[in-house]
Amino acid sequence: MFYNYHCSNCKFTMDIICATASQQKIDHPSHPHPLQRITKPIVSRCNACFCDHKGTFYQCTTCSGFMIHLNCALLPAQLQIQRFTDNTFSHSHLLTLAYSFPYDEQKSKFFPRCKVCAERFYYFKWIYKCDKCRYYVHADCVTSKKEPFMSILMSAGLGKIYKNFKDEDHPNLLKCPFPDESCGLIKHHFINHEEFFMEGNNERMLNHESHPHQLIRFDTHSSLREKSVSLHDPMKRSQLLCDGCVKPVTTLPFYKCSRSCDFVLHEWCVRLPSKIQNHPFHPNHTLVLLPKHRWTLADVFSCDICSLPSNGFVYICPRCYFRIDINCAFIPEKITHEAHPNHLLSRMDASVNKADRYCKACRYNFDKSMGFHCRSCDFYLHTRCALLLPSEIIHKFNKHPLTLRYEPVENHLSEYFCEICEEQMWERQWFYHCTTCAESMHTACAPIKHECKQAIIRKYMMPVFDFINVKFGGTHEIGSHPHRVSFIQGTTYHGCCARCGEMIFKCLECKFAIHYMCVVGWGKRIWN
Ligand SMILES: [Zn+2]
Ligand SMILES: [Zn+2]
Ligand SMILES: [Zn+2]
Ligand SMILES: [Zn+2]
Ligand SMILES: [Zn+2]
Ligand SMILES: [Zn+2]
Ligand SMILES: [Zn+2]
Ligand SMILES: [Zn+2]
Repeated sequence: MFYNYHCSNCKFTMDIICATASQQKIDHPSHPHPLQRITKPIVSRCNACFCDHKGTFYQCTTCSGFMIHLNCALLPAQLQIQRFTDNTFSHSHLLTLAYSFPYDEQKSKFFPRCKVCAERFYYFKWIYKCDKCRYYVHADCVTSKKEPFMSILMSAGLGKIYKNFKDEDHPNLLKCPFPDESCGLIKHHFINHEEFFMEGNNERMLNHESHPHQLIRFDTHSSLREKSVSLHDPMKRSQLLCDGCVKPVTTLPFYKCSRSCDFVLHEWCVRLPSKIQNHPFHPNHTLVLLPKHRWTLADVFSCDICSLPSNGFVYICPRCYFRIDINCAFIPEKITHEAHPNHLLSRMDASVNKADRYCKACRYNFDKSMGFHCRSCDFYLHTRCALLLPSEIIHKFNKHPLTLRYEPVENHLSEYFCEICEEQMWERQWFYHCTTCAESMHTACAPIKHECKQAIIRKYMMPVFDFINVKFGGTHEIGSHPHRVSFIQGTTYHGCCARCGEMIFKCLECKFAIHYMCVVGWGKRIWN
């Protein structure tokens, strides 16, 4: 892959190293004018890597100040990153040397960062790249001989890193992401700590304070067929959402209203502990389980940990009115995440300085939100990004499951557009991708609850679907309208008050639709 000099008359070939090192004047593809060798070794800034080098330099005789170091002049036109980094970094294609990375080009690729050092690029600093896969590295990051690769890794944490904990020290460690949308913290906690949950005696009929009618326990597939009930399955367009945790119910056993109400509870949501002491985010008071936040319209409240609206069950502090959805009630102290696989991630507490910290999943900062971080690396994740983006998602628009991606996809053929909202994607955010169909979706657009008859207009590129914890459905009375209205997510079908994808109320008898927020007043945070 190195340049050669060749005389076809004499069949004499000399590689560029020997040729260049012995030449006083060279033509280099990076520069329009000949470069003159400086006779004595000097220390100077190199125009290729923008580093200070000591040694032999070539200087342009026309442009004053342009000089490149011998080592940079000899960089191969193409290279395999594995070979140059002892397999710490790998890419399936050869990377090509480029002598500039213009601003517009960077912008069109959404300002990528170097895969080795995670820093930004500059116009004239040389890079190696694979455009097709949007894989870019600084030329000196790949070829630097003086810096052993481990020291780069310690600061950036982008390459291969070695495990810094023992599995046996963390027996019930939560390994994120969750495999699919039906899994969550409550299920994980129930499986590992059933002793904290209320005892269950598997009775066929159950009275639960969350619902006025008796609930039936479904524990066999024949019991499902008997009552014509289907498990949640987006491919068959059958929806079965738990009213406690608002996650899909995909396995037996579960409980459902014995009459015709769409009221469903997981086994573990029926048996939730009625009190939580010492919650890490509200340690001084006991939190009490409330089956539904009864005093707001459609039972909607905003969780004080993840900030997402929810109308599932709630843990509440009666003294301070601190309220959290039941998923956020069980946030563990430590997790691991596939995106940063060999280091433990710890729950961030108040002592962690959150200023200028960015979440690796969504690239937003933290301000008041909670998160996990790696104590050895500059790696941060919002709790919502770590816990609410499962590794695989099934969407009725795609025959195959889509998988969560942390990096641009190799061999991607075109620009990235979201199949749901049809907007361009910012690939530095995690996204869902189907390799077979070469289709991608925003993480917020993919959840199956989404009513996507029409594209939803997304105002922000938030990573988690806003209403992931809201179960739509049911009819309500609102003061301003004579008929009962149904609680749904607005799409472009629902008239001008509903183009935004917000929660809306829609009348089934006349053409009336109104924002949830318009009913309660935009100024207030309605669910306070
Ligand atoms: Zn549930
Ligand atoms: Zn009922
Ligand atoms: Zn929450
Ligand atoms: Zn309190
Ligand atoms: Zn995030
Ligand atoms: Zn780490
Ligand atoms: Zn989208
Ligand atoms: Zn009406």
